[in-house]
Amino acid sequence: MAQTFDVIVIGAGPAGYIAAIRAAQLGMKSACVESWKTPQGEGALGGTCLNVGCIPSKALLESSENYERVTRKFESHGISVSGAKMDVARMMARKEAIVAKMTKGIEYLFKKNGIAWLRGHGTLIGKSANGWQIEVKGDGPAETAEAKAVIIATGSKARHLPGIPVDNETICDNVGALAFKEVPKRLGVIGAGVIGLELGSVWRRLGAQVTMLEALPVFLGAADESVSKAAWKIFTGRQQLDIRLGAQIGKVDAGKKGVTVEFEQDGKGQRLECDKLVVAVGRVPNTDGLGAENVGLKIDARGFIEVDAHCRSNLHNIFAIGDVVRGPMLAHKGEEEGVMVAELIAGQKAHVNLDTIPWVIYTSPEIAWVGRTEQQLKEEGTPYRAGQFPFTINGRALGQDETEGFVKMLAHAKTDEILGVHIINTHASELIAEAVVAMEFRACSEDIARIVHAHPSLSEVLHEAALAVDNRALNM
Ligand code: FAD
Ligand code: NAD
Repeated sequence: MAQTFDVIVIGAGPAGYIAAIRAAQLGMKSACVESWKTPQGEGALGGTCLNVGCIPSKALLESSENYERVTRKFESHGISVSGAKMDVARMMARKEAIVAKMTKGIEYLFKKNGIAWLRGHGTLIGKSANGWQIEVKGDGPAETAEAKAVIIATGSKARHLPGIPVDNETICDNVGALAFKEVPKRLGVIGAGVIGLELGSVWRRLGAQVTMLEALPVFLGAADESVSKAAWKIFTGRQQLDIRLGAQIGKVDAGKKGVTVEFEQDGKGQRLECDKLVVAVGRVPNTDGLGAENVGLKIDARGFIEVDAHCRSNLHNIFAIGDVVRGPMLAHKGEEEGVMVAELIAGQKAHVNLDTIPWVIYTSPEIAWVGRTEQQLKEEGTPYRAGQFPFTINGRALGQDETEGFVKMLAHAKTDEILGVHIINTHASELIAEAVVAMEFRACSEDIARIVHAHPSLSEVLHEAALAVDNRALNM
Protein backbone atom coordinates (compact mmCIF):
# COMPACT_ATOMS: atom_id res chain seq x y z
CA MET A 1 0.00 0.00 0.00
CA ALA A 2 1.17 3.52 -0.76
CA GLN A 3 2.71 5.55 2.06
CA THR A 4 0.70 8.71 2.68
CA PHE A 5 1.95 12.12 3.80
CA ASP A 6 0.65 15.62 4.23
CA VAL A 7 3.53 16.97 2.12
CA ILE A 8 6.02 15.37 -0.22
CA VAL A 9 8.96 17.46 -1.39
CA ILE A 10 10.77 16.30 -4.53
CA GLY A 11 14.45 17.25 -4.29
CA ALA A 12 16.56 17.84 -1.18
CA GLY A 13 18.66 20.82 -2.27
CA PRO A 14 18.50 24.02 -0.18
CA ALA A 15 15.00 24.80 -1.45
CA GLY A 16 13.60 21.31 -0.85
CA TYR A 17 15.25 20.34 2.42
CA ILE A 18 14.31 23.65 4.02
CA ALA A 19 10.71 23.27 2.80
CA ALA A 20 10.57 19.77 4.31
CA ILE A 21 11.95 21.00 7.65
CA ARG A 22 9.53 23.95 7.83
CA ALA A 23 6.58 21.70 6.91
CA ALA A 24 7.57 19.26 9.68
CA GLN A 25 7.99 22.12 12.17
CA LEU A 26 4.43 23.15 11.35
CA GLY A 27 3.17 19.68 12.29
CA MET A 28 2.78 18.17 8.84
CA LYS A 29 3.77 14.57 8.11
CA SER A 30 6.54 15.21 5.60
CA ALA A 31 8.69 13.25 3.19
CA CYS A 32 11.43 14.24 0.78
CA VAL A 33 12.34 12.31 -2.36
CA GLU A 34 16.00 12.54 -3.32
CA SER A 35 18.03 10.55 -5.81
CA TRP A 36 21.52 12.11 -5.48
CA LYS A 37 24.43 9.71 -5.20
CA THR A 38 28.01 10.56 -4.27
CA PRO A 39 30.83 9.32 -6.53
CA GLN A 40 31.14 6.44 -4.01
CA GLY A 41 27.51 5.48 -4.75
CA GLU A 42 26.01 6.61 -1.43
CA GLY A 43 22.76 8.56 -1.30
CA ALA A 44 23.20 12.20 -0.26
CA LEU A 45 20.95 15.09 0.66
CA GLY A 46 21.79 18.76 -0.01
CA GLY A 47 21.49 18.95 -3.80
CA THR A 48 23.77 20.99 -6.03
CA CYS A 49 24.50 23.54 -3.33
CA LEU A 50 26.03 21.18 -0.80
CA ASN A 51 27.46 18.53 -3.10
CA VAL A 52 28.81 20.37 -6.15
CA GLY A 53 28.01 24.06 -5.71
CA CYS A 54 28.12 26.71 -3.01
CA ILE A 55 29.77 24.70 -0.24
CA PRO A 56 32.62 22.89 -2.04
CA SER A 57 33.39 25.97 -4.15
CA LYS A 58 33.74 28.13 -1.04
CA ALA A 59 35.96 25.51 0.64
CA LEU A 60 38.34 25.60 -2.33
CA LEU A 61 38.11 29.36 -2.45
CA GLU A 62 39.37 29.61 1.13
CA SER A 63 42.22 27.14 0.53
CA SER A 64 43.35 28.96 -2.60
CA GLU A 65 43.10 32.35 -0.86
CA ASN A 66 45.23 31.06 2.00
CA TYR A 67 47.81 29.87 -0.50
CA GLU A 68 47.82 33.27 -2.16
CA ARG A 69 48.12 35.02 1.20
CA VAL A 70 51.15 32.93 2.10
CA THR A 71 52.84 33.25 -1.27
CA ARG A 72 52.02 36.85 -2.15
CA LYS A 73 50.45 38.81 0.68
CA PHE A 74 52.19 37.99 3.95
CA GLU A 75 55.41 39.70 2.98
CA SER A 76 54.07 43.23 3.53
CA HIS A 77 53.20 42.20 7.11
CA GLY A 78 56.83 41.25 7.70
CA ILE A 79 56.11 37.55 7.51
CA SER A 80 58.35 35.64 5.15
CA VAL A 81 57.56 32.10 4.21
CA SER A 82 59.70 29.97 2.01
CA GLY A 83 58.93 26.69 0.33
CA ALA A 84 55.13 27.04 0.48
CA LYS A 85 53.58 24.13 -1.41
CA MET A 86 50.08 23.27 -2.48
CA ASP A 87 48.87 19.74 -1.80
CA VAL A 88 45.79 19.50 -4.03
CA ALA A 89 44.79 16.05 -2.74
CA ARG A 90 44.71 17.37 0.83
CA MET A 91 42.79 20.48 -0.20
CA MET A 92 40.22 18.22 -1.93
CA ALA A 93 40.00 15.91 1.09
CA ARG A 94 39.24 18.94 3.28
CA LYS A 95 36.55 20.06 0.82
CA GLU A 96 35.00 16.58 0.77
CA ALA A 97 35.00 16.42 4.57
CA ILE A 98 33.11 19.74 4.72
CA VAL A 99 30.59 18.50 2.15
CA ALA A 100 30.10 15.21 4.05
CA LYS A 101 29.65 17.06 7.34
CA MET A 102 27.00 19.32 5.80
CA THR A 103 25.08 16.59 3.95
CA LYS A 104 25.12 14.31 7.01
CA GLY A 105 23.89 17.33 8.97
CA ILE A 106 20.76 17.40 6.83
CA GLU A 107 20.22 13.67 7.43
CA TYR A 108 20.37 14.46 11.15
CA LEU A 109 17.86 17.33 10.72
CA PHE A 110 15.52 15.02 8.79
CA LYS A 111 15.65 12.46 11.61
CA LYS A 112 15.20 15.15 14.26
CA ASN A 113 12.13 16.52 12.50
CA GLY A 114 10.67 13.11 11.61
CA ILE A 115 11.01 13.65 7.85
CA ALA A 116 11.02 10.48 5.74
CA TRP A 117 13.75 10.37 3.10
CA LEU A 118 12.31 8.48 0.14
CA ARG A 119 15.49 7.40 -1.64
CA GLY A 120 15.22 7.46 -5.40
CA HIS A 121 13.87 9.38 -8.36
CA GLY A 122 10.40 10.89 -7.95
CA THR A 123 7.86 10.97 -10.79
CA LEU A 124 4.39 12.47 -10.61
CA ILE A 125 2.05 9.74 -11.82
CA GLY A 126 -1.48 10.85 -11.00
CA LYS A 127 -4.06 11.63 -8.35
CA SER A 128 -6.04 9.50 -5.91
CA ALA A 129 -8.47 10.17 -3.06
CA ASN A 130 -5.41 10.72 -0.82
CA GLY A 131 -3.92 13.38 -3.07
CA TRP A 132 -1.07 13.42 -5.59
CA GLN A 133 0.69 10.16 -6.34
CA ILE A 134 4.44 9.97 -6.76
CA GLU A 135 6.39 6.97 -7.89
CA VAL A 136 9.78 6.65 -6.21
CA LYS A 137 12.34 4.54 -8.04
CA GLY A 138 15.48 3.80 -6.05
CA ASP A 139 17.77 0.79 -6.08
CA GLY A 140 14.89 -1.62 -5.34
CA PRO A 141 11.42 -1.93 -6.90
CA ALA A 142 9.49 1.30 -7.48
CA GLU A 143 7.14 2.38 -4.70
CA THR A 144 4.26 4.83 -4.66
CA ALA A 145 3.77 7.58 -2.10
CA GLU A 146 0.83 9.97 -1.82
CA ALA A 147 0.43 13.43 -0.36
CA LYS A 148 -2.14 16.20 -0.12
CA ALA A 149 0.48 18.72 -1.22
CA VAL A 150 3.61 18.39 -3.33
CA ILE A 151 6.55 20.78 -3.43
CA ILE A 152 8.78 20.40 -6.47
CA ALA A 153 12.36 21.47 -5.77
CA THR A 154 14.26 19.58 -8.44
CA GLY A 155 16.82 22.34 -9.01
CA SER A 156 19.02 22.79 -12.03
CA LYS A 157 21.93 21.29 -13.90
CA ALA A 158 24.79 22.76 -15.91
CA ARG A 159 23.93 23.85 -19.43
CA HIS A 160 26.20 22.16 -21.95
CA LEU A 161 27.00 23.36 -25.45
CA PRO A 162 26.47 21.34 -28.63
CA GLY A 163 29.73 19.84 -29.92
CA ILE A 164 31.47 20.25 -26.55
CA PRO A 165 31.04 16.93 -24.72
CA VAL A 166 31.60 17.24 -20.99
CA ASP A 167 33.43 14.20 -19.55
CA ASN A 168 34.31 15.94 -16.26
CA GLU A 169 37.93 14.88 -16.77
CA THR A 170 39.26 17.12 -19.55
CA ILE A 171 36.16 19.13 -20.38
CA CYS A 172 34.31 19.88 -17.18
CA ASP A 173 31.24 21.58 -15.83
CA ASN A 174 31.04 22.60 -12.16
CA VAL A 175 31.23 18.96 -11.05
CA GLY A 176 34.63 18.26 -12.61
CA ALA A 177 36.00 21.77 -12.02
CA LEU A 178 35.58 21.25 -8.26
CA ALA A 179 37.51 17.99 -8.32
CA PHE A 180 40.73 18.49 -10.34
CA LYS A 181 43.49 16.19 -9.09
CA GLU A 182 46.20 18.73 -9.85
CA VAL A 183 46.47 22.37 -10.80
CA PRO A 184 46.13 22.60 -14.58
CA LYS A 185 48.93 24.61 -16.16
CA ARG A 186 46.59 26.21 -18.68
CA LEU A 187 42.89 26.40 -17.84
CA GLY A 188 40.31 27.49 -20.40
CA VAL A 189 36.86 28.60 -19.26
CA ILE A 190 33.86 29.16 -21.53
CA GLY A 191 31.63 31.78 -19.87
CA ALA A 192 32.88 34.63 -17.68
CA GLY A 193 29.83 34.49 -15.39
CA VAL A 194 29.61 33.67 -11.71
CA ILE A 195 30.93 30.08 -11.84
CA GLY A 196 33.62 30.89 -14.40
CA LEU A 197 34.92 33.79 -12.32
CA GLU A 198 34.74 31.98 -8.97
CA LEU A 199 36.32 28.71 -10.10
CA GLY A 200 38.66 30.39 -12.59
CA SER A 201 39.94 32.52 -9.68
CA VAL A 202 40.44 29.45 -7.45
CA TRP A 203 42.69 27.74 -10.01
CA ARG A 204 44.46 30.98 -10.91
CA ARG A 205 45.41 31.54 -7.28
CA LEU A 206 46.88 28.06 -7.22
CA GLY A 207 49.01 28.83 -10.25
CA ALA A 208 46.96 28.06 -13.38
CA GLN A 209 47.13 30.41 -16.33
CA VAL A 210 43.43 31.11 -16.89
CA THR A 211 41.81 32.24 -20.16
CA MET A 212 38.07 32.93 -20.18
CA LEU A 213 36.01 33.14 -23.36
CA GLU A 214 32.83 35.16 -22.91
CA ALA A 215 30.20 35.46 -25.64
CA LEU A 216 28.86 38.85 -24.56
CA PRO A 217 30.70 42.06 -25.44
CA VAL A 218 30.21 43.36 -21.87
CA PHE A 219 31.68 42.07 -18.63
CA LEU A 220 29.33 41.15 -15.75
CA GLY A 221 26.36 42.84 -17.34
CA ALA A 222 24.04 42.11 -14.39
CA ALA A 223 26.19 44.06 -11.93
CA ASP A 224 26.26 47.84 -11.52
CA GLU A 225 28.50 49.24 -14.26
CA SER A 226 30.88 50.94 -11.85
CA VAL A 227 31.37 47.65 -10.02
CA SER A 228 31.92 45.62 -13.18
CA LYS A 229 34.42 48.22 -14.42
CA ALA A 230 36.36 48.08 -11.14
CA ALA A 231 36.24 44.27 -11.12
CA TRP A 232 37.46 44.12 -14.72
CA LYS A 233 40.43 46.28 -13.83
CA ILE A 234 41.38 44.08 -10.86
CA PHE A 235 40.75 40.70 -12.48
CA THR A 236 42.45 41.40 -15.80
CA GLY A 237 45.13 43.66 -14.31
CA ARG A 238 46.79 42.56 -11.10
CA GLN A 239 45.21 39.10 -11.16
CA GLN A 240 46.07 38.43 -14.80
CA LEU A 241 42.86 36.63 -15.71
CA ASP A 242 42.82 36.70 -19.50
CA ILE A 243 39.14 37.44 -20.27
CA ARG A 244 38.16 37.65 -23.94
CA LEU A 245 34.81 39.35 -24.46
CA GLY A 246 32.66 38.87 -27.55
CA ALA A 247 34.15 35.41 -28.20
CA GLN A 248 32.18 33.13 -30.51
CA ILE A 249 33.10 29.54 -29.81
CA GLY A 250 33.75 27.29 -32.82
CA LYS A 251 35.23 23.81 -32.94
CA VAL A 252 36.45 22.21 -29.72
CA ASP A 253 38.81 19.23 -29.86
CA ALA A 254 39.80 17.24 -26.82
CA GLY A 255 42.72 14.84 -26.97
CA LYS A 256 45.19 13.21 -24.61
CA LYS A 257 47.33 16.35 -24.47
CA GLY A 258 44.47 18.72 -23.68
CA VAL A 259 41.86 20.78 -25.47
CA THR A 260 41.93 23.11 -28.45
CA VAL A 261 39.17 25.69 -28.67
CA GLU A 262 38.70 27.60 -31.90
CA PHE A 263 36.92 30.89 -31.45
CA GLU A 264 36.29 34.15 -33.21
CA GLN A 265 36.82 37.56 -31.64
CA ASP A 266 36.40 40.87 -33.48
CA GLY A 267 35.98 38.89 -36.71
CA LYS A 268 39.35 37.18 -36.29
CA GLY A 269 39.71 33.42 -35.94
CA GLN A 270 41.74 32.44 -32.87
CA ARG A 271 42.72 29.29 -31.04
CA LEU A 272 43.10 28.51 -27.36
CA GLU A 273 45.18 25.55 -26.23
CA CYS A 274 44.55 24.41 -22.66
CA ASP A 275 45.01 21.38 -20.41
CA LYS A 276 41.47 21.52 -19.04
CA LEU A 277 38.37 23.33 -20.20
CA VAL A 278 35.52 24.40 -17.93
CA VAL A 279 32.13 25.07 -19.51
CA ALA A 280 30.17 27.50 -17.30
CA VAL A 281 27.49 29.01 -19.53
CA GLY A 282 24.52 28.98 -17.16
CA ARG A 283 22.24 26.34 -15.71
CA VAL A 284 18.98 24.80 -16.88
CA PRO A 285 15.98 23.78 -14.76
CA ASN A 286 15.77 20.10 -13.95
CA THR A 287 12.47 18.45 -14.88
CA ASP A 288 13.88 15.23 -16.34
CA GLY A 289 11.56 12.32 -15.63
CA LEU A 290 9.44 14.42 -13.30
CA GLY A 291 6.23 13.30 -14.99
CA ALA A 292 4.92 16.82 -15.60
CA GLU A 293 3.09 15.49 -18.66
CA ASN A 294 1.39 12.75 -16.59
CA VAL A 295 -0.48 15.30 -14.51
CA GLY A 296 -0.63 18.35 -16.82
CA LEU A 297 1.92 20.45 -14.91
CA LYS A 298 2.72 23.57 -16.93
CA ILE A 299 6.34 24.19 -17.94
CA ASP A 300 7.32 27.41 -19.74
CA ALA A 301 9.24 27.75 -23.00
CA ARG A 302 12.58 27.92 -21.15
CA GLY A 303 11.89 24.73 -19.20
CA PHE A 304 10.98 26.32 -15.84
CA ILE A 305 7.87 25.17 -13.97
CA GLU A 306 5.33 27.99 -14.25
CA VAL A 307 4.45 29.48 -10.87
CA ASP A 308 2.83 32.61 -9.46
CA ALA A 309 4.36 34.95 -6.87
CA HIS A 310 3.57 32.38 -4.17
CA CYS A 311 5.18 29.49 -6.07
CA ARG A 312 1.80 27.92 -6.88
CA SER A 313 1.82 25.89 -10.10
CA ASN A 314 -1.21 25.54 -12.38
CA LEU A 315 -2.25 22.45 -10.36
CA HIS A 316 -4.02 22.61 -7.01
CA ASN A 317 -1.63 21.90 -4.12
CA ILE A 318 1.44 21.47 -6.32
CA PHE A 319 4.06 24.12 -5.65
CA ALA A 320 7.51 24.60 -7.18
CA ILE A 321 10.48 26.43 -5.67
CA GLY A 322 14.20 27.14 -6.12
CA ASP A 323 16.19 26.87 -9.34
CA VAL A 324 13.38 25.04 -11.16
CA VAL A 325 11.26 28.23 -11.18
CA ARG A 326 11.75 31.86 -12.30
CA GLY A 327 14.00 34.24 -10.40
CA PRO A 328 17.68 34.13 -9.54
CA MET A 329 19.29 30.70 -9.23
CA LEU A 330 20.52 31.28 -5.69
CA ALA A 331 20.40 28.93 -2.71
CA HIS A 332 19.01 31.55 -0.31
CA LYS A 333 16.22 32.48 -2.73
CA GLY A 334 15.15 28.81 -2.90
CA GLU A 335 15.36 28.43 0.89
CA GLU A 336 13.04 31.38 1.50
CA GLU A 337 10.59 30.06 -1.10
CA GLY A 338 10.68 26.72 0.76
CA VAL A 339 9.71 28.40 4.03
CA MET A 340 7.00 30.45 2.31
CA VAL A 341 5.38 27.47 0.60
CA ALA A 342 5.40 25.28 3.74
CA GLU A 343 3.72 28.12 5.65
CA LEU A 344 1.14 28.66 2.89
CA ILE A 345 0.27 24.94 2.92
CA ALA A 346 -0.18 25.22 6.70
CA GLY A 347 -2.69 28.01 6.09
CA GLN A 348 -0.41 30.87 7.13
CA LYS A 349 0.30 34.09 5.25
CA ALA A 350 3.79 34.23 3.75
CA HIS A 351 5.71 35.84 0.93
CA VAL A 352 9.23 36.28 -0.49
CA ASN A 353 10.42 39.68 -1.64
CA LEU A 354 12.43 38.98 -4.80
CA ASP A 355 13.48 42.67 -4.85
CA THR A 356 15.71 42.32 -1.80
CA ILE A 357 17.58 39.14 -2.63
CA PRO A 358 21.31 39.71 -2.22
CA TRP A 359 23.71 38.62 -4.96
CA VAL A 360 27.27 37.70 -4.11
CA ILE A 361 30.09 36.72 -6.43
CA TYR A 362 32.81 35.08 -4.37
CA THR A 363 35.81 36.38 -6.23
CA SER A 364 38.62 38.21 -4.50
CA PRO A 365 37.58 40.92 -3.82
CA GLU A 366 33.97 39.80 -3.51
CA ILE A 367 31.16 41.53 -5.36
CA ALA A 368 27.77 41.89 -3.70
CA TRP A 369 24.64 43.82 -4.41
CA VAL A 370 20.98 44.16 -3.61
CA GLY A 371 18.30 46.06 -5.47
CA ARG A 372 18.61 48.15 -8.59
CA THR A 373 21.75 49.07 -10.54
CA GLU A 374 22.35 52.64 -11.68
CA GLN A 375 21.77 51.62 -15.31
CA GLN A 376 18.39 50.06 -14.39
CA LEU A 377 17.29 53.25 -12.62
CA LYS A 378 18.29 55.30 -15.68
CA GLU A 379 16.38 52.97 -18.00
CA GLU A 380 13.27 53.13 -15.77
CA GLY A 381 13.56 56.90 -15.51
CA THR A 382 13.59 56.73 -11.69
CA PRO A 383 15.14 59.89 -10.20
CA TYR A 384 17.97 58.92 -7.87
CA ARG A 385 20.99 60.19 -5.96
CA ALA A 386 24.18 58.15 -5.68
CA GLY A 387 26.75 58.07 -2.89
CA GLN A 388 30.03 56.21 -3.22
CA PHE A 389 32.89 55.71 -0.78
CA PRO A 390 36.16 53.79 -1.26
CA PHE A 391 37.81 51.29 1.10
CA THR A 392 41.24 52.84 0.39
CA ILE A 393 40.92 55.28 3.29
CA ASN A 394 39.18 52.98 5.77
CA GLY A 395 41.41 52.16 8.74
CA ARG A 396 40.25 48.55 9.10
CA ALA A 397 40.69 47.87 5.39
CA LEU A 398 44.19 49.35 5.53
CA GLY A 399 45.05 47.17 8.52
CA GLN A 400 43.79 44.12 6.64
CA ASP A 401 45.65 45.13 3.48
CA GLU A 402 42.33 44.78 1.62
CA THR A 403 41.66 48.28 0.36
CA GLU A 404 40.33 47.52 -3.11
CA GLY A 405 36.78 48.51 -3.95
CA PHE A 406 33.98 50.72 -2.71
CA VAL A 407 30.37 50.89 -1.55
CA LYS A 408 27.86 52.64 -3.76
CA MET A 409 24.40 53.49 -2.50
CA LEU A 410 21.51 54.54 -4.73
CA ALA A 411 18.53 56.30 -3.17
CA HIS A 412 15.35 57.81 -4.60
CA ALA A 413 15.94 61.50 -5.32
CA LYS A 414 12.65 62.56 -3.71
CA THR A 415 11.83 60.02 -1.00
CA ASP A 416 15.46 59.05 -0.20
CA GLU A 417 14.41 55.36 -0.02
CA ILE A 418 17.40 53.11 -0.68
CA LEU A 419 16.96 51.50 -4.11
CA GLY A 420 20.23 49.63 -4.46
CA VAL A 421 23.56 49.00 -2.74
CA HIS A 422 26.64 47.73 -4.58
CA ILE A 423 29.83 46.61 -2.90
CA ILE A 424 33.17 45.41 -4.14
CA ASN A 425 35.42 44.37 -1.26
CA THR A 426 36.95 41.25 0.29
CA HIS A 427 34.09 41.05 2.81
CA ALA A 428 31.25 42.22 0.56
CA SER A 429 29.25 39.03 1.26
CA GLU A 430 28.98 39.98 4.93
CA LEU A 431 28.62 43.75 4.45
CA ILE A 432 25.66 43.41 2.08
CA ALA A 433 23.47 42.04 4.92
CA GLU A 434 23.07 45.52 6.42
CA ALA A 435 21.85 46.85 3.07
CA VAL A 436 19.37 43.96 2.72
CA VAL A 437 17.90 44.67 6.16
CA ALA A 438 17.71 48.38 5.36
CA MET A 439 15.92 47.77 2.07
CA GLU A 440 13.54 45.19 3.52
CA PHE A 441 12.55 47.81 6.12
CA ARG A 442 12.37 50.40 3.31
CA ALA A 443 14.98 52.57 5.00
CA CYS A 444 16.25 55.86 3.60
CA SER A 445 19.92 56.64 3.04
CA GLU A 446 19.54 59.08 5.94
CA ASP A 447 18.58 56.19 8.25
CA ILE A 448 21.91 54.47 7.54
CA ALA A 449 23.71 57.80 7.76
CA ARG A 450 22.33 58.32 11.29
CA ILE A 451 23.05 54.79 12.58
CA VAL A 452 26.24 54.36 14.66
CA HIS A 453 28.73 52.04 12.95
CA ALA A 454 31.59 50.50 14.92
CA HIS A 455 35.06 51.95 14.46
CA PRO A 456 37.29 50.77 12.97
CA SER A 457 35.21 48.49 10.78
CA LEU A 458 34.51 47.97 7.11
CA SER A 459 30.86 48.80 7.77
CA GLU A 460 31.92 52.44 8.17
CA VAL A 461 32.30 52.53 4.39
CA LEU A 462 28.60 51.74 3.98
CA HIS A 463 27.90 54.50 6.50
CA GLU A 464 30.04 56.95 4.51
CA ALA A 465 28.39 55.91 1.22
CA ALA A 466 25.01 56.73 2.82
CA LEU A 467 26.34 60.12 3.91
CA ALA A 468 27.74 60.64 0.41
CA VAL A 469 24.21 60.33 -1.04
CA ASP A 470 23.60 63.71 0.61
CA ASN A 471 27.07 64.97 -0.31
CA ARG A 472 28.23 64.92 3.28
CA ALA A 473 30.74 62.06 3.57
CA LEU A 474 32.92 62.93 6.55
CA ASN A 475 36.23 61.30 5.77
CA MET A 476 36.62 62.42 2.18
P1 FAD B 1 19.40 21.88 -6.22
O1 FAD B 1 20.38 22.28 -5.21
O2 FAD B 1 19.87 21.70 -7.62
O3 FAD B 1 18.77 20.51 -5.70
C1 FAD B 1 17.83 19.80 -6.43
C2 FAD B 1 17.84 18.37 -5.93
O4 FAD B 1 16.74 17.69 -6.52
C3 FAD B 1 19.08 17.57 -6.31
O5 FAD B 1 19.62 17.00 -5.17
C4 FAD B 1 18.57 16.52 -7.28
O6 FAD B 1 19.26 15.27 -7.14
C5 FAD B 1 17.13 16.37 -6.83
N1 FAD B 1 16.23 15.89 -7.87
C6 FAD B 1 16.01 16.42 -9.10
N2 FAD B 1 15.02 15.77 -9.72
C7 FAD B 1 14.61 14.80 -8.88
C8 FAD B 1 13.60 13.80 -8.95
N3 FAD B 1 12.76 13.73 -9.99
N4 FAD B 1 13.48 12.94 -7.91
C9 FAD B 1 14.29 13.03 -6.82
N5 FAD B 1 15.24 13.97 -6.69
C10 FAD B 1 15.39 14.84 -7.71
N6 FAD B 1 24.11 29.85 -4.89
C11 FAD B 1 24.28 30.72 -3.88
O7 FAD B 1 23.28 31.28 -3.39
N7 FAD B 1 25.51 31.00 -3.37
C12 FAD B 1 26.63 30.42 -3.88
O8 FAD B 1 27.73 30.69 -3.42
C13 FAD B 1 26.49 29.51 -4.94
N8 FAD B 1 27.56 28.89 -5.46
C14 FAD B 1 27.40 27.98 -6.46
C15 FAD B 1 28.53 27.38 -6.99
C16 FAD B 1 28.41 26.46 -8.01
C17 FAD B 1 29.64 25.81 -8.57
C18 FAD B 1 27.11 26.12 -8.50
C19 FAD B 1 26.94 25.09 -9.57
C20 FAD B 1 25.99 26.72 -7.98
C21 FAD B 1 26.12 27.66 -6.96
N9 FAD B 1 25.02 28.31 -6.42
C22 FAD B 1 25.19 29.23 -5.42
C23 FAD B 1 23.65 28.06 -6.90
C24 FAD B 1 22.95 27.07 -5.93
O9 FAD B 1 23.71 25.89 -5.86
C25 FAD B 1 21.56 26.79 -6.42
O10 FAD B 1 20.84 28.00 -6.58
C26 FAD B 1 20.81 25.92 -5.42
O11 FAD B 1 21.49 24.71 -5.21
C27 FAD B 1 19.40 25.65 -5.90
O12 FAD B 1 18.74 24.91 -4.93
P2 FAD B 1 17.54 23.93 -5.31
O13 FAD B 1 17.17 23.27 -4.04
O14 FAD B 1 16.53 24.66 -6.08
O15 FAD B 1 18.17 22.85 -6.31
P1 NAD C 1 26.06 32.77 -15.46
O1 NAD C 1 24.77 33.06 -16.10
O2 NAD C 1 26.46 33.49 -14.25
O3 NAD C 1 27.24 33.00 -16.51
C1 NAD C 1 27.29 32.34 -17.75
C2 NAD C 1 28.14 33.18 -18.68
O4 NAD C 1 28.37 32.43 -19.85
C3 NAD C 1 27.45 34.47 -19.11
O5 NAD C 1 28.32 35.55 -18.95
C4 NAD C 1 27.09 34.21 -20.57
O6 NAD C 1 27.07 35.37 -21.34
C5 NAD C 1 28.19 33.26 -20.97
N1 NAD C 1 27.86 32.42 -22.11
C6 NAD C 1 26.67 31.85 -22.40
N2 NAD C 1 26.76 31.12 -23.54
C7 NAD C 1 28.05 31.24 -23.96
C8 NAD C 1 28.76 30.72 -25.07
N3 NAD C 1 28.18 29.94 -25.96
N4 NAD C 1 30.06 31.07 -25.21
C9 NAD C 1 30.67 31.87 -24.30
N5 NAD C 1 30.04 32.40 -23.22
C10 NAD C 1 28.74 32.07 -23.05
O7 NAD C 1 26.07 31.19 -15.24
P2 NAD C 1 27.09 30.25 -14.47
O8 NAD C 1 28.35 30.95 -14.19
O9 NAD C 1 27.10 28.98 -15.23
O10 NAD C 1 26.33 30.01 -13.12
C11 NAD C 1 24.99 29.51 -13.13
C12 NAD C 1 24.19 30.07 -12.02
O11 NAD C 1 24.57 29.45 -10.79
C13 NAD C 1 24.40 31.55 -11.79
O12 NAD C 1 23.61 32.33 -12.62
C14 NAD C 1 24.00 31.71 -10.36
O13 NAD C 1 22.62 31.86 -10.31
C15 NAD C 1 24.40 30.38 -9.75
N6 NAD C 1 25.67 30.56 -9.01
C16 NAD C 1 25.69 31.46 -8.00
C17 NAD C 1 26.86 31.66 -7.31
C18 NAD C 1 26.87 32.67 -6.21
O14 NAD C 1 25.80 33.03 -5.74
N7 NAD C 1 28.01 33.12 -5.74
C19 NAD C 1 28.01 30.99 -7.65
C20 NAD C 1 27.96 30.11 -8.71
C21 NAD C 1 26.77 29.89 -9.37
